[in-house]
Amino acid sequence: MKREFLLLAAIALIQAPTVYSQDVYERNESADVKHYVFNLSLNDTNNEIKGEAQITVDFKAGAKNFSLDLIKKSNEFGMDVTGVFKNDQPVQYEHANDKIVLPSDGPGTASYSIQYQGIAEKGLVIDTTKFGRRSFFGDNWPNLARHWLPCVDHPYDKATLEFKITAPSHYDVVATGKKINEDDLSDGYKMTHYHEPAPVAMKVVTIGVTRFATKLLGSVGEIPVTAWVYPENKDEGFSDYAVAVDVMQYFVENIGPYPYAKLANMQAKTQWGGLENAGTIAYFENSVTGENKVEGLIAHEIAHQWFGNSATENSWNHVWLSEGFATYFAILYLENAYGDLKRKEELEKDRTQVIEYYKTTPSAVVDNSIKDPMKVLSTNTYQKGGWVLNMLRRRLGDETFWKGIRQYYATYENSNAMTDDFRKAMETASGHDLEIFFQQWIHTKGYPELLWNWKYENKKLLVSVEQKQKHHTFIFPLEIGIKTNAATQIQKVQVKNNSETFELSVETRPDEVVLDPEAWLLFEENK
Ligand SMILES: [Zn+2]
Repeated sequence: MKREFLLLAAIALIQAPTVYSQDVYERNESADVKHYVFNLSLNDTNNEIKGEAQITVDFKAGAKNFSLDLIKKSNEFGMDVTGVFKNDQPVQYEHANDKIVLPSDGPGTASYSIQYQGIAEKGLVIDTTKFGRRSFFGDNWPNLARHWLPCVDHPYDKATLEFKITAPSHYDVVATGKKINEDDLSDGYKMTHYHEPAPVAMKVVTIGVTRFATKLLGSVGEIPVTAWVYPENKDEGFSDYAVAVDVMQYFVENIGPYPYAKLANMQAKTQWGGLENAGTIAYFENSVTGENKVEGLIAHEIAHQWFGNSATENSWNHVWLSEGFATYFAILYLENAYGDLKRKEELEKDRTQVIEYYKTTPSAVVDNSIKDPMKVLSTNTYQKGGWVLNMLRRRLGDETFWKGIRQYYATYENSNAMTDDFRKAMETASGHDLEIFFQQWIHTKGYPELLWNWKYENKKLLVSVEQKQKHHTFIFPLEIGIKTNAATQIQKVQVKNNSETFELSVETRPDEVVLDPEAWLLFEENK
């Protein structure tokens, strides 16, 4: 989710050359990382790690120099590179400005080996758990992998990967991927090997090394769903995380195949409320209470496996494709489990947050002025993004909405997408032109601020609606709830202008008239 700690805490896009907008990461379109093998040695004496990364890269013809992100040692923190090989031969390289610059002579495939050591300031959190046990947790989002893993540290270039982790034998070791084997080494250490056959973005690559209590919660198809919790929290953790199986089942049935080798649910030290690491989700330490308080958080992080992890935003400025989706798909899960009232309740809470946020930060969901990926998370990309999907669902109808979602996922599974790609997928599925919809809800700030009134005369209900926001006239369907003798009848009108009066045939004088009784429109009521 990432939201718990962080948040409690126009035009554009269509022009091709600026398609990645303000996302300032320097891309190398002539190189494509295919596979990483991260050999890591951890110890109990100090926080230094020793690493060897084997990196397989495909180059196009005329490839320029290839570079990997790795924070260079300065003072206490950072990594010293001790050797670099290309196809097993030592090569000249430069490690400066937190990049290792390597020779490339494409086209073709090359493998590099980078040997390094040091203490990571971030990304790999070495600390004691709340119960005082030593622990090592990867916490990469958004671009902290470069503190401990040489890599292309941007989600545009995803790769399959392996971890080979050498650690003192008393630890339990989990990492991205399927466990291949665990070898006892002679000297009180063991090496644990994990392999993930689906490409993963570095933002959601992780390891967890400490004492864990583990349990197989269930399987969905071939995919094991497990809990990895602190031994002191064993019973509570197994109970709190058990719902992951139902969540997984719901998403597999409705969206498409689960993308990764396993789904581990891990109690962890993370700077976030939850971090959706691919197949190895980290939940904050106090997520475990034994009182099943984190079902929504679990649903959010599991939804990310499809949206954000597998179908990944191609630019940080489009992170709503990850967070807005996880927010809304958690609501869809809760609606399915507890009924439509739950959906309304969640969306009404989110609407209040969107309105509060807009008062201080009037910006669009896709905000191309943001350059720092740490700043792309906001009420806009979470709650407003979720609301946009809710409105899209109403506009298309449930069947077409889900058909479009499945098509979008099938097209961008294990790949990358931009907002336009999602729009086109939904247009193809529905046959609707959604240009205006996306333009006003995703690329324009705000929402309709409605000043409205009603009167009843001659069997006519007259509803006058004025859009008070000046910067943009929104076009939207508005549902009007007409309450008479405790029954509510809903009539729908299309609002297209700044100021309009709608005339509805109503037999008897209503007791009350309300706007949007079923929570399908993001708007603010200015009475
Ligand atoms: Zn999230």
